[in-house]
Amino acid sequence: MNAPSERIQNMSTSATLAMAAKARELRNEGKDIIGLSLGEPDFNIPDFIKEAAKQAVDDNYRAYTPVDGYADLKQAISNKFQRDNHLTYTTHQIVVSTGAKQSLFNVAMVVLNPGDEVILPAPYWVSYSDIVKLAEGIPVEVPTSIATDFKMTPEQLEAAITPKTKMLWFSSPCNPSGSVYSKEELEGLAEVLKKYPEIIVVSDEIYEHINFKGGHNSIAGIDGMYDRTVTVNGVSKAFAMTGWRIGYIGAPAWIAKGCTKLQGQVTSGANAIAQRSVIAALEAPASKIQYMIDEFHQRRDLVLQLLGDIAGFKVNVPEGAFYVFPDISSFFGKELRGVTINNASDFALYLLEHASVATVTGEAFGSPNCIRISYAASEPELKEAIARIKAVV
Ligand code: PMP
Ligand code: GLU
Repeated sequence: MNAPSERIQNMSTSATLAMAAKARELRNEGKDIIGLSLGEPDFNIPDFIKEAAKQAVDDNYRAYTPVDGYADLKQAISNKFQRDNHLTYTTHQIVVSTGAKQSLFNVAMVVLNPGDEVILPAPYWVSYSDIVKLAEGIPVEVPTSIATDFKMTPEQLEAAITPKTKMLWFSSPCNPSGSVYSKEELEGLAEVLKKYPEIIVVSDEIYEHINFKGGHNSIAGIDGMYDRTVTVNGVSKAFAMTGWRIGYIGAPAWIAKGCTKLQGQVTSGANAIAQRSVIAALEAPASKIQYMIDEFHQRRDLVLQLLGDIAGFKVNVPEGAFYVFPDISSFFGKELRGVTINNASDFALYLLEHASVATVTGEAFGSPNCIRISYAASEPELKEAIARIKAVV
């Protein structure tokens, strides 16, 4: 009777948001929890973006916006793609949405028919598999491990392709592993895809700027890929604008048109004030946000150094984003303080209960040997959190 639809019942709750909510709840009960579960920059939005938003309020941007975004914002996005990624997208190929999460959802709904398979190199970002399932697609996980720096090889891609494969989805820099695909690695994947022209690629580049190696590569820029790639991006991470909810795509025109049609029935378009402020964000030179990237870089080095001291943690060296994704499978089957650790979820729960540190189980990302630690937290918090973890393992 009072039950939600099967669709909702079959959906998992976002593990990242659930862990963040749990940490918040424990904190409200008075517990001293250090939250390293949520991937959310801990900086304020840069002043020049705030000023643009204030100006937009005063300029009475109050009405419904065009469903696919203000024309001048789409032009700014087009310029950004050209400037940063050497990708030429006309404004007809761009759709602005309520966060990159909605952009991804739109694309799944527009491209997938029931039963279509979507290749997800694992670890993948939590929401991919549930978004695919909501669109009645079938997620096909391709497991990778720390041995290949959590990247899918061309051989693995080829082996996962079936006549039902409709899409390949991945993020680079990757949430949760922080791995960054080089141009050569993307060319290797593109070489395989050449043989399967019906497969659409979703390239989630939301961590583009948080790259410590420099040199972001978009798969849409590789020979033969442009007409079949959707490039997803947004302002949540680079500009610390998570709550303002703006994401966007550059895509083949038929996909962009479908996304706009869908959005027209579901949201009517993204928030007007936030859209105006994003023009300022995207027109700014990269130097304006470099201080945040430098800070993430320093924290990454600190976290790697501290985690490297903990026996049983096998740690990758992430080149981007703000996560480390240690393999903690050496604890499986062991007992810690009377608690048996059978899997990564047990381990994450153990850290929450015994060290008061919130992380996220790798199971949510399709990698059951790992946990995700977000280092979008201050240095003192990171030091304290890792000292606590060390003390209980
Ligand atoms: N893709 C990845 C890989 C992410 O980590 C996130 C962060 N939540 C998103 C998409 C969605 O970002 P947004 O806040 O723009 O919805
Ligand atoms: N991308 C972030 C994360 O992975 C934000 C949470 C979310 O949107 O699920 O933690």
